[in-house]
Amino acid sequence: MGWMYHAWQGVKMKIKRVDQYVIEMPLKHPFVTSMGREEIVPKVITAVYADGLVGWGEAPVGAQPVYTAETVETCWHVQHTMLIPALLGSDVARGRDAGGLFERVRGHQMAKAGLEMALWDLEGRSKGRSVSSLLGGTRVQVEVGVSVGVQDSLSMLIDRIADFWSAGYRRIKIKIKPGWDAQIVAAVRAEFPAARLMADANSAYSLDDAPMLRLLDDHDLIMVEQPLAYDDLLDHAQLQAQLRTALCLDESITTPRRAREALALQSCRIINIKPARVGGLSAARAIHDLCLEQTVPVWCGGLLESGIGRASNLAVASLPGFTLPGDISATDRYWREDIIEEEFVLNSDSTIDVPQGPGLGVTVLPDRLEQFAVRCEVYRA
Ligand code: MG
Repeated sequence: MGWMYHAWQGVKMKIKRVDQYVIEMPLKHPFVTSMGREEIVPKVITAVYADGLVGWGEAPVGAQPVYTAETVETCWHVQHTMLIPALLGSDVARGRDAGGLFERVRGHQMAKAGLEMALWDLEGRSKGRSVSSLLGGTRVQVEVGVSVGVQDSLSMLIDRIADFWSAGYRRIKIKIKPGWDAQIVAAVRAEFPAARLMADANSAYSLDDAPMLRLLDDHDLIMVEQPLAYDDLLDHAQLQAQLRTALCLDESITTPRRAREALALQSCRIINIKPARVGGLSAARAIHDLCLEQTVPVWCGGLLESGIGRASNLAVASLPGFTLPGDISATDRYWREDIIEEEFVLNSDSTIDVPQGPGLGVTVLPDRLEQFAVRCEVYRA
């Protein structure tokens, strides 16, 4: 009986140590959305040690609570006071065990997701399997696109997109906001008739803007992403009923339950799954499974991740229901220097390879981490 249990459950690992870092990475180019401008991107990185192995995780939290309510400070605090103490000394075998360990803490999805990612990495390393294979991924390359922020002028936007187009990106997402919307989308469509285009408003509109949003129907967009309030489902359902273009929800989907509610209310026809926003890889997979069952397409969004989070996003996007290209650009789209050794590059068919090595399949560079670190704490069982 004993061996059967182990074969099924996986060998348990005792968590001996956790390292927690705040790092700040300088972007190659400032990134502007309806929420603001970013030049330095902070993150909380964690390393979880067990059985001579180390797993890495990233919480892509902002300095300010403008995308979600979480910030670097809240993430640090919740990991420090609740999540890391729950992990230390515990016996875990699998990434999915994090859900039970962290159950007492409400919300704080990114704080949980960062540590959960490290457990998936550890599990993969201990079994010699990639996180993609542990999750049930079916692709070795995933189709990707690029997200282009608000620019100072239309001609700058066109130039920027032209650069990405010649680099090989075939799906282009543009950020919109009041005053930078229907006309801009029309101009981009005229310039790039073959592009798979989408527009992301990051909650910049209300239902009163429905007449303007209906104008977007003329430009053959794959989707309009999160036009209304960041925590809304009902108004989006009303707007979706008035549009031909599919609405996609991002900010509103924070848990598998919210995804189920959104589908029941017909608030959207597409879901953007960001594992960090929904509490980690297990929740991301649960939302994927639900959408696959209901034939709702999903895709993987990005949060200006370092190579650690990028590797994790690629693993998630290898699941069969991720039928739309993700916001998972090549390393050089955002960074001159990343904290991992490997570089993600764009293939000629607008895809990126899913890492196949054990765990997340990437190697963290200690010197680079040190260079970007502004805070570090070591916890031992
Ligand atoms: Mg978005």
